[in-house]
Amino acid sequence: MGSVERISIAKRTGFCYGVREAIDKAKLANADGKSTHTLGQVVHNEGVIADLRQHGIESVDSLDDVATGAAVVIRAHGVKPEVLNRAAERGLEVIDGTCTWVVQEQRELQRLVADGYEIVLLGTPHHPEVVGLLGFAPDAILVDEEEDWIKIPRRKRMALITQSTQPPWKFEKLAAFMVGRCHELKVLNTVCPVTIRRQEDTLETARLVDLMIVVGGSRSANTKELTRLCEIVGTRAIQIESVRDLNDPAAFAGATHVGVTGGTSTPIEDLERVARRVAELGGTADVAARAAAIAHEALAAAATPQYRTSSLEATPAR
Ligand code: SF4
Repeated sequence: MGSVERISIAKRTGFCYGVREAIDKAKLANADGKSTHTLGQVVHNEGVIADLRQHGIESVDSLDDVATGAAVVIRAHGVKPEVLNRAAERGLEVIDGTCTWVVQEQRELQRLVADGYEIVLLGTPHHPEVVGLLGFAPDAILVDEEEDWIKIPRRKRMALITQSTQPPWKFEKLAAFMVGRCHELKVLNTVCPVTIRRQEDTLETARLVDLMIVVGGSRSANTKELTRLCEIVGTRAIQIESVRDLNDPAAFAGATHVGVTGGTSTPIEDLERVARRVAELGGTADVAARAAAIAHEALAAAATPQYRTSSLEATPAR
């Protein structure tokens, strides 16, 4: 018999609005009878991709895989301008799901280029948002971990901007570092507020519980940051990609209150599945017997209407 008596899901979890909107746009186009594709996977989540596929929405790696006249959805991360030009040349209907926050970043970058700044972009190499941003500022210096920063040259006028999901502390540290590298420094704080709120709510839950389960892609920067923050406040954290990774009842040994949180690409329904699994594997006899109800209650406490984070129900094409 396990020891877990309570399970809490962090508030304001589930898809961020950028991811949710891109998925909703794909579903609406499909429901409108359009042959709909997404350029790259909208999120790296098997359940979401399988759901979209079941409704006829395929993800493609290249625009060349889309038939002329069909619809292609640009995901929340955005793309380089060349990709949009190529889609127009190919006669595709572009449904732009680029997150409004990312669009704002792209505009800011263009302004920095026009104003002649030497630009430093804090971001993860090859991350789709970063690839898209570099399309607007091909000469920007991309840096990630602290050991990279030494490659930042000394210049008179420099500007710093960041990928939306980078940790705020890292951005602030880099800004401080760059103060010593130039005479004029322009700092554009483009860390996404959703990411910051997610961290605050995760920390609030982590402080209450004995163990946190963090759900999200193993390479997702914002998910890794949530795990790190839980550990900083002294709460043990287990990071998983999906409920399938939770198999060992020993993981919950001694824990009475378990918290669940997820990255910005993790649907809130996945958190409910994880909460249920925690109850089944690690719960007391009573909690294990009521696992589904307990998980549902945890979700209901976290997901109020104004925090709606699930995407629309997919509608089959007419
Ligand atoms: S994390 Fe923020 S910037 Fe990125 S897609 Fe989500 S809402 Fe947009």
